[in-house]
Amino acid sequence: MKAAKPTAAVRRRAVQINDELARLYPDAHCALHHANALQLLVATILSAQCTDVRVNIVTPALFKRFPDAQSFADADIAELERLIQSTGFFRNKAKNIQACCRTLVEKHGGDVPRTMEELVPLAGVGRKTANVILGNAFDVPGIPVDTHVGRLSLRMGLTKHADPVKVEHDLMALIPQEEWTDFGHRMIFHGRQVCHSRKPKCAECVLNAICPKIGVG
Ligand code: SF4
Repeated sequence: MKAAKPTAAVRRRAVQINDELARLYPDAHCALHHANALQLLVATILSAQCTDVRVNIVTPALFKRFPDAQSFADADIAELERLIQSTGFFRNKAKNIQACCRTLVEKHGGDVPRTMEELVPLAGVGRKTANVILGNAFDVPGIPVDTHVGRLSLRMGLTKHADPVKVEHDLMALIPQEEWTDFGHRMIFHGRQVCHSRKPKCAECVLNAICPKIGVG
C-alpha cells in the first residue's frame, strides 16, 4: 500500500515528536514479559482487550505448563482456557493460541517465523501482533499500531486515517526505519502516561507547542 506523500511540515513535526519522546522515554520497551518469540507471540494474543499487567500475571504459570508450540498444540483446551480466563475473551484466545501453535508445528518446525508474510496467516495474528514479534523478538523494525499509536497519530496530525494499516504506512513514511520499533514503544508509553484517551494532559505535555491536537476537546 502506498501512503500519500507527507508535507515537509508534517515530516518536520514527526522528527521533532520522535526526538522529544525519545528524550522523555529513553527506556521505552515492550511491557509484556517473555523469554522467547513464542512466549511473546502468546502474550501478545492475550493482550487484546487486556492490560499488559494482567497478561504478565497470567503468563508465568501458562508458560511453565506449556513450554513450547507442541505443548500448546496438544493442550486440553479447557485447561488452556482456565489458565488464561482472567485476560478476557478467553475462549477465542485459547482457540487462536492452539490453532496458531498447531500451524507453527506443522509448517515451521515449532518455531515462530521471522517475516510479516509468514506471521499474518497465523490464527490470532494481525499486522499489529506481527510487528510486535518482528521488532521485539527478531530486531526487524516494525510499528505496531494499537489503540494508543492510532489515537496519538491522529491527534498529532501524522495521519488522517483511523484504519491501523493505513496509519502504519503513514508512520512508516515519516519515521526512519531503524526507529520504527522504538517509536511504537514511545507512543504507547506517552498514550498511557500523558495523552490519555478521554483527558489528554496537554498542558503538561512536552509536545504541547508542536502538537496540533486534532480532535482534542
Ligand atoms: S499535546 Fe495533547 S494531544 Fe498532543 S500529544 Fe500531548 S497530550 Fe496528546
